[in-house]
This record gives sequence, structure tokens and C-alpha cells, in this order.
Amino acid sequence: MTDPSSSPASPAYRHPAAEAAIAELSGLFGERVVLSQSVRAHHGHGESFHATQLPDAVVFVESTAEVAEVVRLCGRHRIPLVPFGAGSSMEGQVQAVEGGICVDLSRMDKVLAVRAEDMDCTVQPGVTRQALNAFLRDQGLFFPIDPGAEATLGGMASTRASGTNAVRYGTMRDVVLAMEVVLPDGRIIRTGSRARKSSAGYDLTRLMIGAEGTLGVITELTLRLFPIPEKVAAAVCAFPDLESAVSCVVATQQCGVTMSRIEFADTAQVAAINAYCKTRFPESPVLFLEFAGSPQAVEAEISIVRSLADEFGGGGFDWAETEEARRELWHARHMAAYAALQVRPGCKGLPTDVCVPISRLVDCIAETHKELEASPLPAPIVGHVGDGNFHLMIVFNPDDPVELAEAERLDRSLGLRALAMGGTCTGEHGIGLGKRGLLAREVGEALEVMRTIKGALDPFNLMNPGKLFLE
Ligand SMILES: Cc1cc2nc3c(=O)[nH]c(=O)nc-3n(C[C@H](O)[C@H](O)[C@H](O)COP(=O)(O)OP(=O)(O)OC[C@H]3O[C@@H](n4cnc5c(N)ncnc54)[C@H](O)[C@@H]3O)c2cc1C
Repeated sequence: MTDPSSSPASPAYRHPAAEAAIAELSGLFGERVVLSQSVRAHHGHGESFHATQLPDAVVFVESTAEVAEVVRLCGRHRIPLVPFGAGSSMEGQVQAVEGGICVDLSRMDKVLAVRAEDMDCTVQPGVTRQALNAFLRDQGLFFPIDPGAEATLGGMASTRASGTNAVRYGTMRDVVLAMEVVLPDGRIIRTGSRARKSSAGYDLTRLMIGAEGTLGVITELTLRLFPIPEKVAAAVCAFPDLESAVSCVVATQQCGVTMSRIEFADTAQVAAINAYCKTRFPESPVLFLEFAGSPQAVEAEISIVRSLADEFGGGGFDWAETEEARRELWHARHMAAYAALQVRPGCKGLPTDVCVPISRLVDCIAETHKELEASPLPAPIVGHVGDGNFHLMIVFNPDDPVELAEAERLDRSLGLRALAMGGTCTGEHGIGLGKRGLLAREVGEALEVMRTIKGALDPFNLMNPGKLFLE
């Protein structure tokens, strides 16, 4: 442990209880309590545009018992605690707004059990989705939820994450069967069983999913797994305009075609991907498509989607023929956020997402596009449109307050548009610091119920304070 006051790079403790809490913590965890400026800075921000806010210390935990010990210690000292997975969240979820202790769960990275016959597994929260899939590779099974970043499963549950596969497999809400959670008072609970369904009381699993670390620390997850499909085919299809591309998606969903992925990118986003990934996708609105299942089912679905695409003026399907070509296609799609940032090197991005009922998707994207055309800021559009979800990366100069204000205006305007269309201000990135005002607008009176739950479980507001609720 290093003394922050002895290092010119380290500011004084931010939280009044930090000194005493860290002294006790260091007695228990030794070198695993880290006070260095660089480690605290790394843990004081995610991938959002919000300013870094340093915790007073970072503790690297290795077991549930250790998490419970840290939680109880923080409770005794009345000092806040922020759980941390990989720090890839996009709405200011990990900033330590009051200082306090950041609990890094990345060393709890064991796959504890895989039960192929039940198609489920139990993992520690620091396992990343990529590591889980590498572990499962030889077993004919995979875990489908795929945010573009190397995120941890604990973090993904906490933000109720999804990704390109959600249109077929759902989100973290649908694939987490049960969790072990350390509550703010140090109690360790299990929220469910391995049964695929249950009518047993309040659904605490889903209460914790999307709680953004404000109700407890997830220390174990039991997850559904899925068989690797027999055949997978992926293609890109270009459209003359944005409305045609999105209308085609809506038609596929209304026809009940079970695509495994159907992703939209507007012209600006495709151009950014081409420049960043050295790809040659047609620079017009495109759909990235993937079909998966038995060979017969895949052929049948391709034929339906091809005729729908024709109807909406789509060009031919440009197939990714080999597994490697398919991997490259989805890698390029997953790079969309980084590619968008490069349209103005040196600038920052405000990433934002909304989700609307599928029947309102064309209107929502078209109105958003119109508003963006009138704005000086570039903001490529990309989306998991099969389930009504799309994203903007609003690129702005962080040193120019006028540009920051414009980025925030566009973000809020998008959120309000989605709400007016019966949707949500965030389909998958969550609330964090960035969307607290919109959450209040979205849920109305239900916000008080959320506050009541928070107050009952965490009466001293120690678990990731400042998130979800405006003061
Ligand atoms: C390039 C890029 C692409 C992305 N694409 C997508 C996408 O397609 N879909 C999507 O949903 N997201 C996407 N994201 C956002 C991000 O990957 C997700 O929000 C992810 O779920 C965060 O996981 P994490 O491990 O990084 O969590 P962190 O950022 O470390 O934490 C997120 C929140 O969870 C809490 N937390 C972390 N671990 C625990 C735990 N064990 N117990 C309790 N609380 C915990 C934290 O306190 C925080 O509130 C993307 C991000 C990037 C950078």
C-alpha cells in the first residue's frame, strides 16, 4: 500500500472516512489495496464522456467471502463502495462521485461449472463473455450476449446488457437464471435456482439485473447456454435510403423471421467503419444480416429476407462466405463506436442508445436523422434494430462548451423522442450519471418505488451512490 498524501500525484482522500477505512482494509488485503493515482484514475471512469471521479482506493477481491468482508467494512465506516468489472460501461456508471472504495472483481474470473446436459453454467462475475466462449468452444455450446466491448458478466448483468444477438437470444434479463449477491449489509443471498422457470416469490434475480451496483455486489452468476447452430450465414445488404433499410427490418420481424442478427448502419457509420477497419462496405444505409439454424431453416429464412429486401429496394446480399470472413464482418460491426470516434480525431464521443416499439422504429430513426442533419456535430447511427434499439455516437470537442451543450441536447432530444413513441431512454447502456433525468421522465411515480427499494436494502446509500437517481 502507498500513502496517497506522500505522493505529489495523489490528491488527499476525497471521502472523510477514507483514511480509517483504508487502514483497516490494508490490514486485511495488503498489496491488493491500491492507492496509486493511475490505478484509481483507471477505475474512476468507464467509456462515457463524463469526467473521471477517483475512488480513494481500489481493492482487488478474489472470493465471495472477501467481497462480504469489504462490504461490511464499508458499512462500518459509512464509506461508499463502487463495484467494477471491466469499466466498459457507457453512461458514467463507475465514477466514484463521493470517493470511497472501488471493488475490482476482475480477479474473480473462474468458470465454476458447465452442465452441458442442462445447457447452463455457473461463473464468477469477473469472467468476460469472450473468456466464457473460449472455455465453451469444445462443448458445442455458446453464450450469446455480446456487447461490443470485452465486458465482464457481472458488469453485463448489472447494466442489463445485450448486443447484436439480442433479437434472437434476448438480453441479460433473459439468460441469467440465478445469482449470488452480497447485499449492502454483508448478507450473502442466492436469488434463484437453475430451473428454467419459477413462480417462487419476488424475482430478485431481475431486481439485481440492471441495478448498476446500487443494490449489492454480484459474486456468482448461473447462465443459460445455447447450442452452436449447425449452419450460420452472414451477409451485408445496401439500401437506397435509411427508411427502406429500416422498413425491411421491421417487415422481417413482423413476418416472424428468426434472424440471429439484423443490424443497421447509416451512411456516415459505414464510411467510418470502412475508414477505420479498411473494409469496403457500400457507403449507403446497410443491414448486416446473420441467419443461423439447420441448413433447411437457414435457406428458408434467407429466401424470405431476400424477397423482403428486394421489395424495399435493397441490393444483392454480399455474403461473408467463410468463417473468417464472417468473423471480420462482425468485428467491423463491433468496432462501430471506435470507428465513429475517428471521424474527428482528438474529439470525444457521447454514446447514447434508445429502444422503441418496432412499429415506431422507422419514424424514430428518420426523425433523429433529420435532427442530426441540422446539427454541426457528426453522430453516426448504428443499431440492433431487430429489437427496436439503436445508438448514436455524438462526436464533440470536449474543450468547447457550446459543442458539449449541443451533444447533450441531441442526447436528451433522442431520449424524449423515444419516450414519446412508447419506448425507453436506454435499451442496453443503462442510466449511470447520464440518463438520471430521463429515467425520472420515463418511469414517473415508479421512481419512488425504486427509491424505496434502494432505501430498504441500502439505508446509508453506500452502494454506488449518485447513480440512477438525481438527488
Ligand atoms: C465499444 C463498446 C461497445 C459496446 N457495445 C455494447 C452493446 O452492444 N450492448 C451493450 O449492452 N453494451 C455495450 N457496451 C457497454 C458495456 O460494454 C456494457 O455496459 C457492459 O455491460 C459493462 O460491463 P463491464 O464489465 O465493463 O462493467 P463496468 O463498466 O465495470 O460496470 C458497469 C456497472 O456495473 C456495476 N458492476 C460491475 N460489476 C458488478 C458486480 N459484480 N456486481 C454488481 N455490480 C457490478 C458497476 O458498479 C457499474 O455500475 C459497449 C461498450 C463499448 C466500449
